[in-house]
Amino acid sequence: MIVEGALIDLEGTRRGYVRLKEGVVLETGSIGTDSTRGRERRVRGIVLPRAVNTHTHLGDAAFPREPPPGPVSRIVAPPNGIKFRILSERSPAEKRSAMRSSLRRMSAEGTGAVVDFREEGLAGARLLRSAARGTDVEVVLLGRPLTRPVDRRELSELLGVADGVGLSSAREEERSTRETIARACRARHKRYALHASEVVREPVEDYLRPRPDLLVHMLRATEEDLRIVAESGVPIAVCPRSNALFGLKPDLARLERLGATVLLGTDNAMFSAPSIFRELEFAYASQRLRRRPVSPTMLVRAAFLAPWVWLGRPERARISEENPHPPLVLRLPDEDPEYQVVTRAAEHLMIPAASGSRWTGPTDEE
Ligand SMILES: [Zn+2]
Repeated sequence: MIVEGALIDLEGTRRGYVRLKEGVVLETGSIGTDSTRGRERRVRGIVLPRAVNTHTHLGDAAFPREPPPGPVSRIVAPPNGIKFRILSERSPAEKRSAMRSSLRRMSAEGTGAVVDFREEGLAGARLLRSAARGTDVEVVLLGRPLTRPVDRRELSELLGVADGVGLSSAREEERSTRETIARACRARHKRYALHASEVVREPVEDYLRPRPDLLVHMLRATEEDLRIVAESGVPIAVCPRSNALFGLKPDLARLERLGATVLLGTDNAMFSAPSIFRELEFAYASQRLRRRPVSPTMLVRAAFLAPWVWLGRPERARISEENPHPPLVLRLPDEDPEYQVVTRAAEHLMIPAASGSRWTGPTDEE
């Protein structure tokens, strides 16, 4: 199959064609120059890398419901927030099944990887690994050790299963705890991440030292805080839909202006489906609603390109014969391609990568 239209990847956005067989890119080039001389089926659309959902708490999918009134901290703050109470009441089987459903949904929507903050210590990390078995979404698992002060043995076992640690916030942890965790992550080439300035402003020093690999939210950060983080090169994961439920607004226009590396996530799976398509549309429309527009290009970068670079796999953000991973193919107009992706992408517009010949039914149920 030949897809003609717009190609979006790390090399930039361009018009061209992609020849695919069973989802794998065989060749790309300028329209009209492909090697098939009209012998293959031709469709119009937009081709881009799979998305990365850079911030989730998939375990929360075990209790999907309308968020109760009140501040977000009452719900999600460890160890006594509502979610931790409910998490402990759900059986491992229920949580595993809910996480698995979430991963299936992400797969069906063209998400290639997810960065999950998995609570509940080593057992929680093992449960997500088990839930992910056999799915085609790569799980970058940031676990959380439970014992304070940190039990080195527990941390070591956790890092044997997890890809790093994701903490609740700097202000909820002693500096020594953060240092021990960050050092252990560094020594084992794992990632250290934390939520920062989510409900109250925290001093930049508190979350930038020790240096994290990723910060999440930064809602209460000042312009100066954001400037320092942008200059530090530490990426910021933003989750506008989840924040909106509690009256909070990440200022994506400001982040764009400051040149911060922005990544997109869908946050707690109890409140919102882990849909990058919905997140993109909301992010774009809500910024326009506030008369602080953000460019579709920046949002496309945050969801489809920058996270692969952050993960150390820039090749996955390229549409080329060297990348064996199936790209995302969307039946969308190729004018203003980033705008189309941000505002119109939907599961039913995806051309299933694996078949190359069917139009619908992208899920590969076991
Ligand atoms: Zn979070």
